[in-house]
Amino acid sequence: MIDKHSRKINYLRVSVTDLCNLRCVYCMPAGGSELSERDEILSFEEILKIIKHGVSLGLNKIRLTGGEPLVRRDITSFIKQISDIEGINDIALTTNGINLKEHADALKKSGLSRLNISLDTMRADRFSDITRGGNIQDVFDGVEEVLKVGFTGTKMNTVIMRGQNDDEILDFVRYISERDIELRFIELMASGWKNMVDADRFIPSAEIMEKIQEIGELVPVKERVGGGPATIYRMKGSLGSIGFISAVSKPFCSTCNRLRLTSDGKLRSCLLSGGEVDIKNILRSSSLSEEELADKLTETFIKVTTMKPIVHSGENKAVMNQIGG
Ligand code: SAM
Ligand code: SF4
Repeated sequence: MIDKHSRKINYLRVSVTDLCNLRCVYCMPAGGSELSERDEILSFEEILKIIKHGVSLGLNKIRLTGGEPLVRRDITSFIKQISDIEGINDIALTTNGINLKEHADALKKSGLSRLNISLDTMRADRFSDITRGGNIQDVFDGVEEVLKVGFTGTKMNTVIMRGQNDDEILDFVRYISERDIELRFIELMASGWKNMVDADRFIPSAEIMEKIQEIGELVPVKERVGGGPATIYRMKGSLGSIGFISAVSKPFCSTCNRLRLTSDGKLRSCLLSGGEVDIKNILRSSSLSEEELADKLTETFIKVTTMKPIVHSGENKAVMNQIGG
């Protein structure tokens, strides 16, 4: 699939659930978000049907996210079913790490290619504040288990917020200097939930980079696993690498190769703007023959691809746990 700005679309990010076992301050209201009715959430069979159709149109890369994907029952057998689809050559998963230790081995055996683990602080009390109650040790244990069972290309997603965790930038750099992990600093984005993100907390990547360069030179890395929007650097003597995702200060829309599937069945052209089509309604339409359904799915993929904006407007703030961050 090629969009109207000549971008080749081969990547689908799938939010498998809007449920989460944390309540991060920048992502959800304290009382949790408004959840979809359970029968509004796509079944694994429905997601597989959409992925298989996407593969016939050129998809070869999948990321599972949420909400928290590891709270969805049978997630590892679902990943195995995706990895069995001919044409899929990369399956990644983004997790908060809370249930990772118990799942790491099964995830490795399921055919999952890579993991992104989100962690915004190295301190137990702050972790509990930022996530509203999470236990940081669960994440640390999850990280070690993932490395132990043999995952490579593991990434750590870190959102730095002024006055909240900006004094920990170098602690993160030291943490990955002893581990084969790509640390990715992600710029704070406005949230779709009302009054969730205080704009004063935003820190641009350039400022974080400057801080890191106080302790060593950052050398750009050319080759990297999995591709993606981050600019990657390495510091001499460090086992890990450091990336910056500057979606706010320097949007990377010109190289965007992805569509998104929301947990309630919308095929979406962009996290922040552009349009979406309710693909679940099409799948659940009993009046369509197999052939008509296939035509409708193709039509939907093409339509959503053409909706991709050349640059996101940033006007629509994302409701992360539903769309999938
Ligand atoms: N629950 C999983 C997790 O936390 O990794 C997957 C879903 S979460 C929505 C995916 C990513 O979105 C996380 O790395 C999280 O830090 C990021 N995220 C959520 N809200 C954000 C915001 N307002 N600005 C920047 N990143 C955000
Ligand atoms: Fe849950 Fe991830 Fe959102 Fe945190 S960022 S509340 S872990 S979905």
